[in-house]
Amino acid sequence: MNPFVYNGLPSRVIFGAGSIAQLPAELDRLGAKRALLLSTPEQKQSLQEVSKALGARCAGTYDKAAMHVPVEIAEDARRVARELGADCCVTVGGGSTTGLGKAIALTSTLPILAVPTTYAGSEMTPIYGLTEGGLKKTGRDARVLPKTVIYDPKLTLSLPAAMSAASGMNAIAHCVEALYAHDGNPIISLMAEEGIRALAASLPRVVSDGRDIEARTDALYGAWLAGVALGSAGMALHHKLCHVLGGFGLPHAETHSIVLPHAMKYNSAAAPAAMARVARSIGGNDAPGAVWDLESRLGIPMRLADVGMKQVDIERAAKIATEAPYPNPRKVEYGPVLELLKAAWEGRRPAG
Ligand code: NAD
Repeated sequence: MNPFVYNGLPSRVIFGAGSIAQLPAELDRLGAKRALLLSTPEQKQSLQEVSKALGARCAGTYDKAAMHVPVEIAEDARRVARELGADCCVTVGGGSTTGLGKAIALTSTLPILAVPTTYAGSEMTPIYGLTEGGLKKTGRDARVLPKTVIYDPKLTLSLPAAMSAASGMNAIAHCVEALYAHDGNPIISLMAEEGIRALAASLPRVVSDGRDIEARTDALYGAWLAGVALGSAGMALHHKLCHVLGGFGLPHAETHSIVLPHAMKYNSAAAPAAMARVARSIGGNDAPGAVWDLESRLGIPMRLADVGMKQVDIERAAKIATEAPYPNPRKVEYGPVLELLKAAWEGRRPAG
């Protein structure tokens, strides 16, 4: 075993079906008396239900969270938090809502209590992102890591099948890249492998019956582990490519699921131990092929062409993704990355 550094990320996790009932007690534990509740417009109703359950502990609600945290919305939400005299943010939603809570926490001392309802994993990371003038900037700051996370699988029952599948593959992508991260370690690798196992086993069940609470519970458990992996290990080519493609307006989770088998193929010869662990946790011998097969069973889009990527933009995306060096198992070079993106655009199964 090589020497390593392990940095535990401090957060308290309440996990299990029905655990949202513990929200008032968890707010008390944080010393919070005036919580600002956040969501997207689509989850306004869930927010109202949580707000009712909180009674006087709820200082107000803000339901304008949007993908990639536009800076104007962040500023508006910060203003609302100040005007209400909020002493805590409760985020009820996916990565977009958690991201808005992080934007508030970044410029204040407000703690975040996160209630995730997708498998994106942001609630477990000190990573934030803000978009200004079409450009998304990300950073790390300990202040944005939620203090408490309530994982209630019941709140994921309403996540549509296609979104569940893509979001779950987004989580698997965190685990895969943690397994070959330049700064990875054996503890995070344990979590990453277990995360892939839990998600790969549960996602087909979630897709066939979205109200299967056991499958939902297993998937959310996998997503938690994946979030820890994302927050603890440096991500590589796959996440870089998805970040770049996000700049072209592509949807977050779907882009991750489409690119993943191709990014894995790119790295497979340079990261054989990681690939063996992925294959072991999904089943099969060839990890990129096993991921691709799992995705085809889930019935999600398999081609970048299907989620709005224009063929003429492929070269530009490959250029942006390769202009600055970053750690990756295999050297990141324009020609092979262009081939990777072409394969993802066409949705070809990576050759074993
Ligand atoms: P999202 O939060 O944008 O949610 C997608 C849609 O699904 C929204 O309309 C939302 O309201 C709806 N939704 C969420 N949960 C639902 C449920 N249970 N039932 C019904 N509808 C539901 O999507 P996401 O994929 O969770 O997050 C993507 C964003 O998060 C991106 O901006 C990404 O960059 C960011 N992200 C950040 C980190 C980080 O560590 N900072 C990690 C992962 C993702």
